[in-house]
Amino acid sequence: MAKSKKKKDTEFSVADALRVPAGPVRVEDFDPGAAPAYPGEGKDDAPAQMAAMAPELSDLQERLYAAGRDNPDSPRLLLMLQGLDTSGKGGVIRHAVGMVDPQGIDLTAFKVPTAEERAHHYLWRIRKALPAPGMIGIFDRSHYEDVLVVRVDELVSMEEIPRRFDEINAFEAELADQGITLIKCFLNVSHEEQKERLLERLRDPEKHWKYNPGDVDVRMKWTDYMDAYSDVLTHCNTERAPWFVVPADRKWYRNWAVARLMLEHLRALDLGWPAADFDVTGEIARVDAT
Ligand code: AMP
Ligand code: MG
Repeated sequence: MAKSKKKKDTEFSVADALRVPAGPVRVEDFDPGAAPAYPGEGKDDAPAQMAAMAPELSDLQERLYAAGRDNPDSPRLLLMLQGLDTSGKGGVIRHAVGMVDPQGIDLTAFKVPTAEERAHHYLWRIRKALPAPGMIGIFDRSHYEDVLVVRVDELVSMEEIPRRFDEINAFEAELADQGITLIKCFLNVSHEEQKERLLERLRDPEKHWKYNPGDVDVRMKWTDYMDAYSDVLTHCNTERAPWFVVPADRKWYRNWAVARLMLEHLRALDLGWPAADFDVTGEIARVDAT
């Protein structure tokens, strides 16, 4: 029974299902309401599908952490979350990332750059936030803001954007060389669903804290953002640092898919346990004697 269940689990790959194909793409090519490679029925069994991943996810994260303890060259994982307001970056962190030991998580949220950050190259704050060996880094927004909001709000000249695409590709190749596995997720929420979620926040006093009047100004630039994201998915989608488009209109699928992407990428690292650097038999005898 357990065996056949396991076999079934490896029959599908969410990474394959969500990876952006090479070549020119548009955000509009991807359905925000889809649920690719979901092995269950739907919303009702999503909690069970999440729970089914938890033990292995937890075990693999612990292996990663153990490997990193005394090996600076051990693998690292970096989950990057991009998406418009209400796409669910926070929800993914709570529900998917929240499944693993917080001691192994290194979370950074990138906001409007501070005066100090602005005085540096845009990758400066990104480099500072890279996960240490054995850690799973989480970026809530990333250097992609520097070719998204920065482009839409014309904070740099337009000629600068393609130059940054090249720079970002080179930077991410460098990270891959250092043993950092990137999982770049674009949480793809539809225009209609975003409206629903913003209204929901406004109707519920307990959600007012989540609402930011500025979100509507961003929403009014929707087509500019779609153009900017389409270019990012086209030009910064490399073999070693591919993009995944995660349909985000259904929260249960979005959370499950990101957890599953973490699981699949951790599996691919094929992590063992570090060997003891002490005499195990001798230590047993010592403890026994106490
Ligand atoms: P939130 O994620 O909702 O807390 O909002 C963070 C805000 O910071 C968003 O409005 C982003 O567009 C903005 N932001 C993040 N990075 C940058 C950047 N490099 N340049 C300008 N604005 C940024
Ligand atoms: Mg916000």
